[in-house]
Amino acid sequence: MTEPTKLEGAGGRMAQYPPPERWDDWVEYEGSAWPKKVERHYILVPTVCFNCESACGQLAYVDRDTLEIRKIEGNPVHPGSRGRNCAKGPATLNQIQDPERILYPQRRAGERGSGRWERVSWDTALDDIAERIADAIRNERRDEVVYHVGRPGEDGYADRVLRAWGVDGHNSHTNICSSSARVGYALWMGHDRPSPDYANARFTLLISSHLETGHYFNPHAQRIIEGKLAGAKIAVMDPRLSNTASRADYWMPTKPGTEAAVLLAMAKIILDEELYDAPFMRRWWNWDEYMRAQRPQDEPTFENFLLALKQEYAQYTPEYAASLAGVSADMIVKVAREVGRAGSGFAAHNWRAAAAGNLGGWQVARCLFFLNALTGSVGTKGGTSPNWWDKFVPQPFLAPPPQKVWNEILWPREYPLAHHEMSILLPYFLKERRQKLSVYFTRVYNPVWTNPDGFSWIEALSDESMIGLHAALTPTWSETAWFADYVLPMGLGPERHDTHSYETHSGKWLGFRQPVLRVALERMGKPVQYTYEANPGEVWEEDEFWIELSWRIDPDGSLGVRQWFESPYRPGEKVTIDEYYQYMFEHNVPGLPEKAQAEDLTPLEYMRKYGVVEIAPTVYEVHENPVPESALEGTTVDPVTGLATKPGEPPSGKPIPLIGPWNAPGVEIDGVVREGFLTPSRKLEFYSPTMAEWGWPEQALPNYMESHVASTDPKGGTYILMPTFRLPTLIHTRSNNSKWLNEISHRHPLWIHPEDAERVGVRDEDLVKVITRIGHFVIRAWVTEGIRPGVVAASHHMGRWRLDRGFGTDRWSSALVDLTYENASTEGATWRIRQKEHVQPFESKDKDSSRVWWTDAGVHQNLTFPTQPDPVSGMHCWHQVVRLEAGGPDDQYGDIVVDTSKSFEIYKEWLAMTRPAPGPGGLRRPLWMFRPLKPDASTYKIPD
Ligand code: SF4
Repeated sequence: MTEPTKLEGAGGRMAQYPPPERWDDWVEYEGSAWPKKVERHYILVPTVCFNCESACGQLAYVDRDTLEIRKIEGNPVHPGSRGRNCAKGPATLNQIQDPERILYPQRRAGERGSGRWERVSWDTALDDIAERIADAIRNERRDEVVYHVGRPGEDGYADRVLRAWGVDGHNSHTNICSSSARVGYALWMGHDRPSPDYANARFTLLISSHLETGHYFNPHAQRIIEGKLAGAKIAVMDPRLSNTASRADYWMPTKPGTEAAVLLAMAKIILDEELYDAPFMRRWWNWDEYMRAQRPQDEPTFENFLLALKQEYAQYTPEYAASLAGVSADMIVKVAREVGRAGSGFAAHNWRAAAAGNLGGWQVARCLFFLNALTGSVGTKGGTSPNWWDKFVPQPFLAPPPQKVWNEILWPREYPLAHHEMSILLPYFLKERRQKLSVYFTRVYNPVWTNPDGFSWIEALSDESMIGLHAALTPTWSETAWFADYVLPMGLGPERHDTHSYETHSGKWLGFRQPVLRVALERMGKPVQYTYEANPGEVWEEDEFWIELSWRIDPDGSLGVRQWFESPYRPGEKVTIDEYYQYMFEHNVPGLPEKAQAEDLTPLEYMRKYGVVEIAPTVYEVHENPVPESALEGTTVDPVTGLATKPGEPPSGKPIPLIGPWNAPGVEIDGVVREGFLTPSRKLEFYSPTMAEWGWPEQALPNYMESHVASTDPKGGTYILMPTFRLPTLIHTRSNNSKWLNEISHRHPLWIHPEDAERVGVRDEDLVKVITRIGHFVIRAWVTEGIRPGVVAASHHMGRWRLDRGFGTDRWSSALVDLTYENASTEGATWRIRQKEHVQPFESKDKDSSRVWWTDAGVHQNLTFPTQPDPVSGMHCWHQVVRLEAGGPDDQYGDIVVDTSKSFEIYKEWLAMTRPAPGPGGLRRPLWMFRPLKPDASTYKIPD
């Protein structure tokens, strides 16, 4: 048996692991043969986990004799995850071996949603889809091709494909996830996410349950605990006593929607007690812009600004915030002082949680970053950096120019500041006949189940006059795939190539996901041309799918598509996946060619060997970097603002920066033009001219906005439903193909405080009817003091269902249901779901399926939520105002009733809250703001 490497003082990395030089033949004894010592020889192939957004490194153990993947563990050389995985990482093995997975392309053989399918060849599917896309391109219907992605798991590959087609078709899941938090951060610094340096922090403030479910969960959790072990204290703002809150020094169970007020009260204490970092603020805030815009009567000095700042927030006394939030003023003061004393060592994060739940949730993230900006903990050791400093996205070969079309069904004029596509509104826009879609891809996405008001999604997906063709790219059946025209089996994490890089810590790395069996075969000297040759059944990887589809869209090159898929090494021939990454790694990853050369490897061989490359071990204070002379050529420095700008118009035909001003590479601070941040001023924008100019002057500063759930009153019968929290062992909509994860987590109770339970008249396990504005669901009560009174909560993972006893959504965790509707009109219908069979054992090639002992499939609560897009960020505001009743004799666990004509009315209600474009210059949205797949600058202007 091979001995693992042992490291003394591993510095946060694993202390024992199989050393990379032995990954070609790693020997372990077979556990099931014990007490005999039977050797197993493994090839260890590094890849990257696909079970959440963290992209932790993995090592797949491939048996050399059987070519079976026997287990999956952490990759010890990965700088983000450092050898560790959470429970969802090793469960990847279940997903590969899942007897319910789809192995061959399917085409519907009856009406959409009828459940009748036939196996077809990949050629049939590819030719059909390619011809429809080619037709849309030929006839300039480039806004009718849409790719709707849930978990991307990659950085830029699909964007390049869409750009090569010249369509404006990128559609993400982000406005059910993080749009609001992104807007809050982007207004301050351009960058739309924080990258806290938890390991070195002196104080950490978390809004959400980061230790078990935070963004970049396992890598962040490791470092939060490291910081705590080194003496840092932690505060957690969460109405629920999560595992994270239970480990915190301060648990602040704020009333949902009041978080911004509490944060502003902390800001006031930091200001009043002069705990702020004045030199940092003087140099890096756009305080002078604020003074000119909002205090023109005052001399624009920093001293006057400080006075004005104190006046702006004078009303946010701890007592006022406490009265709104229901936490003590004393605790608010204590936490504020901890933040102030931590100074540059203050780390903070708000991802989904409060930002995702509330109208104006973007102001929560903005008010949280206000504390970083006040304490000067921006980009510092132990502080909070902008995300892009800790992330690296390599360019592929040949970049197609930006598309010259603007898709109004994804980026409607009503939401000029939405951070991502208004994907949640697609069914309503289709019903309104704003536009139709010719080809609609869903990819690792299940909007029927994941989005609010899923029945409206079913109505749109079922109507061929709204969606001409729907291809679901998915490894497993889902509630959405059921309503597709093609279901195309795509590789799971260890069956595909991707690159990605995330802000897991202060440092930069590039991960390389690879198809494990393909790489193992190649290491054994057996060449593989296409990944599907090594994958099970006829499972493709998407990279090769997109190349092949693009080639068929434009076989002779006349549409201008084919050129982007020709090999950079063999002119005129189709690029291979090896060549795609070979070029990227040889040319566009700093330091990689040198590291590879040092080991006598090519850059691609290096990435195949390690699955990752570290680009920078630490990154701090990038904003202070001087802008290189070459980038300043042709710029002049504005004497008032210090901004170095180039004259002229935004260029057409060339990409404009993904974020930040297209013509201002830096700002002069202390006589040097420095990089600064990615805002229009290149400074931290306390005052946002963008908000003022685009119709929201009253929200130009960090502010507390009243949430749509503010008026609930349990005594009057209304409660806040918090449906957003995650369990650490489930994966949104993607864990029901893992038997281990379902065996661990298979209960779906409604958290309810004893006071509320008594008022409603329910006890533990009793049925509760939760009534929303469009319908109701029936769930079981869990009476607990772990949630604040007036708030009820159910995790967002469970409630999977299927319509056929034998197949559909994986049987490890789905209920067999009756789905019916009545009173159908053009605006909707009354829909019902009733569970007929709970989870139960089933026969399959996996013997464990006959041993399933759990029964609860959960309740699909999202179906009963009206869509509530925040008028600024476009984020669906997840929290619901609900009424609660004890379940009656006609109610059954899992019942759902929804009227989609009511949800259509509520869509219009929220639409009326928007302040549509055009903005300044007749534009659709600010040029500087991030937009995935940013189109040509000329498309930003709304035609006269
Ligand atoms: S945190 Fe867990 S699920 Fe997420 S990438 Fe890491 S191992 Fe996978």
